[in-house]
Amino acid sequence: MKIPFNKPFIIGAELRNIRQAVREGHLSGDGPYTRRCHRWLEEHLGAKRALLTHSCTAALEMAAILCDLKPGDEVIMPSFTFVSTANAFVLRGAVPVFVDVRDDTFNLDERRVGAAVTPKTKVIVPVHYAGVACEMDALMALARSRGLLVVEDAAQGLLAEYRGRKLGAIGHLGCLSFHETKNVISGEGGALLVNDERFVARAEVIREKGTNRVQFFRGEVDKYSWVDIGSSYLPSELVGAFLWAQLEQAQAINAKRAGQCAAYRKGLAQLAARGDLALPQPAPAGTTGNAHMFYVLLKDRATRARLISHLSKRGIHAVFHYVPLHSSPAGRRYGRAAGPMTVTDSVSERLLRLPLYYELGKPQVARIVAAITVFFEGRPA
Ligand SMILES: *Cc1c(COP(=O)(O)O)cnc(C)c1O
Repeated sequence: MKIPFNKPFIIGAELRNIRQAVREGHLSGDGPYTRRCHRWLEEHLGAKRALLTHSCTAALEMAAILCDLKPGDEVIMPSFTFVSTANAFVLRGAVPVFVDVRDDTFNLDERRVGAAVTPKTKVIVPVHYAGVACEMDALMALARSRGLLVVEDAAQGLLAEYRGRKLGAIGHLGCLSFHETKNVISGEGGALLVNDERFVARAEVIREKGTNRVQFFRGEVDKYSWVDIGSSYLPSELVGAFLWAQLEQAQAINAKRAGQCAAYRKGLAQLAARGDLALPQPAPAGTTGNAHMFYVLLKDRATRARLISHLSKRGIHAVFHYVPLHSSPAGRRYGRAAGPMTVTDSVSERLLRLPLYYELGKPQVARIVAAITVFFEGRPA
């Protein structure tokens, strides 16, 4: 039996909810299930306003519009991230300025951000890699002192915490993903968390094609019209109905993944002790992770390539990421690196993600651990 890298899952009420949404006769956006999801996110994460979007990419695009950037404005972000972090801002004519990541969490190195700030800098985008928090106090203090906005890319961070606060609810704006590879899923899906009151009304307009339709539905205006730029960023009620079933079980989903990560950690401890590979560092003091990812770090790119093919021959699909944005074709065209990219370059060559999904069982984790052990022990000394 093959072990895929990821497998979408159903936790319980998803299909029942979808059937109910069809019965209720509301399938476009912002129906009863979507509103329930909004309330859940506001209550459990502590956001002023949560708005479902059709992806985290869409939430990032909304955030970039809300930041009101002029062409040439600069946005500081890691290079070690998914393309959407940068694309959303490039679409507004802004320039991504890439800063290296820390060597323990692979998060934006807060000690290097200050040196990258110029008179054109407008926004800092911390990406909470693997659901482990960036050093938010330092980044928020820097943003305050330089008059910058903070947009958290919390795509991987649902319910993870930094000093008692939930990721995505700390910066001015936060973006979540419910893509099928994340902890809680709706196929494609995401949410914008608006934490600063000033952005709430405009966020609702941008999400509804630049109209004040939300105010109209609330009875605050007697007709709706085109009032600002915007697009269609709201998902169908089918997505809300599916997602609601998963949000109700979000803690249980994260707990299950934490058990799988612990099993990997235990199984690979000896190889790590011998220096064959390195395991993820425990989450920094004052933070709580959400078991989004389990990865190992190999000695070099060649070892990683050999391990991927060794696992693949045994039916196990392991994957790596990211091609650093600063060295990708579009990253070179639209952005620039500020300072050295030593950690980013090194990690992107050596990191390997192991299968992790809701239905991954103990025997499968054991099989993956055994296959990795054979890889190292079968190697000539
Ligand atoms: C998954 C991910 C995204 C994109 O999320 P989508 O919902 O697929 O648009 C953005 N940033 C990071 C860091 C991610 O992991």
